[in-house]
Amino acid sequence: MTIPDVLDTAPPRLTPADAERVAADVFGVVGPARALVSERDQNFAVVGERGDGWVLKVANVAEDPGVIEMEVAAVARIAEVDPALPVPLPHPTLDGGPIGRVEIAGSGTHLVRLIALLPGRNARADELTDDNIHAIGTVVAGVGRALRGLFHPAAGRVILWDQQHLPRLFPRGSLVEPGQRRDLLDRVIARFSERVLPALPTLRSQLIHNDVTLDNLLVDAGGNVTGIIDFGDMAHTALVLDIPATLQSLLRERDDLFEVAATFLDGYTSVMPLEETEAQLLGDLLAGRMAQTILISAHRTRQYPDNEYIRGWSEPAWALLAQLEAISLDEAGRRLAAAARRPVRTRRAGGWAVDEELIERRRRVLGSALEPLTYQRPLHLVRGEGAWMFDTRGRGYLDAYNNVPVVGHSHPRVVEAIARQAATLNTNTRYLHENVVELAERLTASMPPGLDTVMFVNSGSEANDLAWRLSTAVTGGDTGLVTDWAYHGVTSAIAAFSPSEWPRGQQPASAETFAAPNTYRGAYAEADDPQRVARHEVSAALGRVEARGRSPAALYLDATFTADGIFLPAAPVVAAIAEGVRNAGALYVADEVQSGYGRTGDGLWGFSAWDVVPDIVTLGKPMGNGHPVAAVITRAEIVDRLASQTSFFSTFGGNPVACAAALAVLDVIEEEQLIDNAGAVGGWLRTAITDLAARHPVIGDVRGRGLMLGVELVTDPDSRQPAGDLAVRIKDEMRERGVLIGTTGRAGNTLKIRPPLSIRRDEAELIATTLDEVLSALES
Ligand code: PMP
Repeated sequence: MTIPDVLDTAPPRLTPADAERVAADVFGVVGPARALVSERDQNFAVVGERGDGWVLKVANVAEDPGVIEMEVAAVARIAEVDPALPVPLPHPTLDGGPIGRVEIAGSGTHLVRLIALLPGRNARADELTDDNIHAIGTVVAGVGRALRGLFHPAAGRVILWDQQHLPRLFPRGSLVEPGQRRDLLDRVIARFSERVLPALPTLRSQLIHNDVTLDNLLVDAGGNVTGIIDFGDMAHTALVLDIPATLQSLLRERDDLFEVAATFLDGYTSVMPLEETEAQLLGDLLAGRMAQTILISAHRTRQYPDNEYIRGWSEPAWALLAQLEAISLDEAGRRLAAAARRPVRTRRAGGWAVDEELIERRRRVLGSALEPLTYQRPLHLVRGEGAWMFDTRGRGYLDAYNNVPVVGHSHPRVVEAIARQAATLNTNTRYLHENVVELAERLTASMPPGLDTVMFVNSGSEANDLAWRLSTAVTGGDTGLVTDWAYHGVTSAIAAFSPSEWPRGQQPASAETFAAPNTYRGAYAEADDPQRVARHEVSAALGRVEARGRSPAALYLDATFTADGIFLPAAPVVAAIAEGVRNAGALYVADEVQSGYGRTGDGLWGFSAWDVVPDIVTLGKPMGNGHPVAAVITRAEIVDRLASQTSFFSTFGGNPVACAAALAVLDVIEEEQLIDNAGAVGGWLRTAITDLAARHPVIGDVRGRGLMLGVELVTDPDSRQPAGDLAVRIKDEMRERGVLIGTTGRAGNTLKIRPPLSIRRDEAELIATTLDEVLSALES
């Protein structure tokens, strides 16, 4: 293996006495010299007569003089372009130039420089604050920017610390013992070949420092950078390669990898935004840097088995690689890319734009009726991708709560559909447009025969409100029936059908309730024939309606009984409820706002499980994956009844952009087979949590369909006393560990797990293991 590199030539071997002579004879600086550590040159600290500190740099005999000149030129350029960057300027030789030349007996002719010894010390990664890390990001980017316009012919030399030459090191992989580590290394190399190498020629390239590690940065007591040293690894290469070099050292022995990386990248990109390809390659470049370290170290360890400095390199590199591999190299790459893409945030003196201030502004301007922020420590989220959301510091949270982003946060297909239509035309349904008609056709095609007409609105509440108008127009009734802890929306009519939100003890005249089919406690759970309970519950409720001199117009049913506590009763039980209300002349409104769009893992619509065709279906939340769009789907003759009284028009309802979003959601659900995924991953997760119940007696019941799971907590399994406070603590502890869930049910003691349908099995495992950890911690 022939690799033209000074790494293969032994470093110079001067004694401190030689160094003192050189400093005096060449530079006129007289004082004691002390050897410093270096990979391939020799460095000495020299203290002059006035206490002035210098570093004598004695170059390796194999070093190209052009390279030394390039270093001198680079430092001079940085000082000129950005005087705030602390770089070591050279002491002139007695001849007035920056570089001297000395003959050392037994060693050869060496080029020598005497450069300023900058104040400060090397910091350890774990002592740096967020502000320090951010500042290091700006320093690295600042050095890159200052070097941008510098040309030097020596910059084209081949140096093994330049990742563009990593393939030259690939054969050294054979120096690593076969086994797990070798396999990991091989995977990193394969990814590098596949993803990085083809892109490298297209990346912004220039002269870069290439080694701004914590070994080459000096800091003061507050961790502020006081020196940038060692320009010995400079190369003309991809600008972005400065980042993995620094990150490798910042991430050493840190658990909070992605927070540190995000803080660093925030600093870096505040000076030098990254191009998209650069951002996407960061994960592989970081892994590549580790591979490079391991491969160089393996070879050098053979050459210099006694050099502890070299031997010390590779273990941290392996450790960091293992950390990246633990979450998968793909995921690591996604997170780094996300952090690098993040828009630059405003920073204020003293740190991040603090959340407390935003909380206070929110409180002042959004009023006291708005629901409080979720979690004891509220989240300030700025970005989402797949099943993950990220906070202002780049910390990722696995979203096991939100059902709106049904195909995953910010799904590119949906985003693109919205953007393209918004850039083309957005108007209303009084003009002819393909989108609204196509969407209506696709929705009716997905419904049982008879549900052939669609009316578009903007929210689940509006859909239920319109369903109410239709129901009253058709039946002449004036009362809605709902389960006793239901939620159906916010309009005046529908708030009345949301007992979970009723002011205590105040049942609106237009509403009547019956017990939700609770399969864990109460009449349904205890009865041999829960269908009879259903019939009884409904007829009692209808009796109360009649006793008040009113008549039923509609039954609203959420097929997953989400607010009631998430139940999965047997089909005949729900059929009995629906038929009972229908027989009294009311319509059955299937509220699919929660249970629709594949959530239940067995089809697009949750009501299908009951074998009763609803009169009206309402859709919302997931319909546009976050874009407001909702719909009512019913029979034409029902709409005709409303039409005989009035016409219907909603300004935004069914607009081309909303419909583009909704069409894209249907496409993605189909193409990514998300219903099957919800069934498979949801089934796995339910089993995994059920298994946890064996070790954690506070888990009283695990239930649900697909990716709508309820975990009911009790103080003990026999008394089944609801453990509402525990549920809140678990929810908060899960959040602290990066997994977001909610609570539901009248006593708030049921954990609500309801992730995007695109959630992967390994992500579901994270939900289960985190829940296990949290339960164990709270029990101990
Ligand atoms: N129905 C159900 C079952 C719901 O869960 C909700 C919202 N949580 C709504 C209707 C109302 O939807 P929106 O908030 O979009 O108006």
